Amino acid sequence: MTDFLLPDAFEEYSEARKAGFLKVKAAKEQGQKVAGCFCAFTPLEILDAAGLLTVSLCGMSPETIPAAETELPRNLCPLIKSSYGFYLTDKCPYTYFADLIVGETTCDGKKKMYELLGKGKETYVLHLPQGRDVPYALEMWTEELRRFVRYLEERFAVKITDEKLREAIRQRNALREARCRLMELLKADTLPISGTELYTFLDGIGFNFDIKDAIAKTRALADSLSGQQSPAVTPNGKRILVTGCPIGGVFQKVVGAVERAGGNVVCFENCSGIKPARCKVDENADDPIAAIAKAYLDIGCAVMTPDSKRFENLPALAKAFRADAVLDVALQACHTYLIEGRTIRDICKERGVPYMALETDYATADAGQIDTRIAAFIETLGE
Ligand code: SF4
Ligand code: SF4
Repeated sequence: MTDFLLPDAFEEYSEARKAGFLKVKAAKEQGQKVAGCFCAFTPLEILDAAGLLTVSLCGMSPETIPAAETELPRNLCPLIKSSYGFYLTDKCPYTYFADLIVGETTCDGKKKMYELLGKGKETYVLHLPQGRDVPYALEMWTEELRRFVRYLEERFAVKITDEKLREAIRQRNALREARCRLMELLKADTLPISGTELYTFLDGIGFNFDIKDAIAKTRALADSLSGQQSPAVTPNGKRILVTGCPIGGVFQKVVGAVERAGGNVVCFENCSGIKPARCKVDENADDPIAAIAKAYLDIGCAVMTPDSKRFENLPALAKAFRADAVLDVALQACHTYLIEGRTIRDICKERGVPYMALETDYATADAGQIDTRIAAFIETLGE
């Protein structure tokens, strides 16, 4: 059994962080291989079929940003800086113990971060097409996934069979369906769970690596909730759809502000919410890799040009969840989402849905100002 070393600063860490390190260390010592990922485009089924445990490494804390800024430009998205800072400081157990980091050619900042990460950690970058509407995009992405399969097979001495892929597809589809079912409870008039409660659950269950258990827990929560109203919800509060960048690092500032102002977040149309959960892979396809490629290419994200799926899905979701307004959250220096905000505003305007754009980062300095702005926006929505 291989013994894995802990970071030099381990003894200075909090108890929770220490526990995280010890858990991953123990798994590694049992022979578990760990892949770290950063994006909803990461083809999880392929990593599952290769026997790797996959975990999101997206940095959601300002804690590691000063360290990252010693190497990265300051005017970069906080998610990238936070993630890279966790790598530099050895404060994230998953980054520290990852056998492999999987990236995709999404935004420029991430692409360049992967090059730097690759100097210290084994990093594999999947070349994602920059749009899904050109005829060869699907073919290119499918080939890219086949190249990834060959790489994993060789690197980890495993065979990724169609049977293993089909099993992984079934499991991931079941988990996505369970997550969708839970989120769709918020289509109702009576909201059985608040935005904060929902987000906290979905985020936490993402770190449950026993997928069957994660499916069971998500289904059980959905079953237990039907029909009742959460005490954390404001009765008849304005229904807000949150779209834009991943919001884990600004969650309290944004969703907390909506709730403090008497609104309710009814839909998260972003990578933390319904967007990746709606990515359903065809379980009966003859070619499972082609089916995975097709499903993932349908994820709407501002890194695509044009971002046709987001433009199509957002108004449909606003209607299905009966949103009174759309709140578009962009992380500072995220050019793709900031620029696309203009189109999202026009889409909302055409449909008569009030729209608010918000740009923020992981610092707390603007928290009071965001509270005021969101409260004023909700007030404009009327009774
Ligand atoms: S917003 Fe786009 S680039 Fe960022 S994690 Fe989600 S899918 Fe990936
Ligand atoms: S939030 Fe924007 S800039 Fe940051 S990693 Fe995601 S796409 Fe890139």
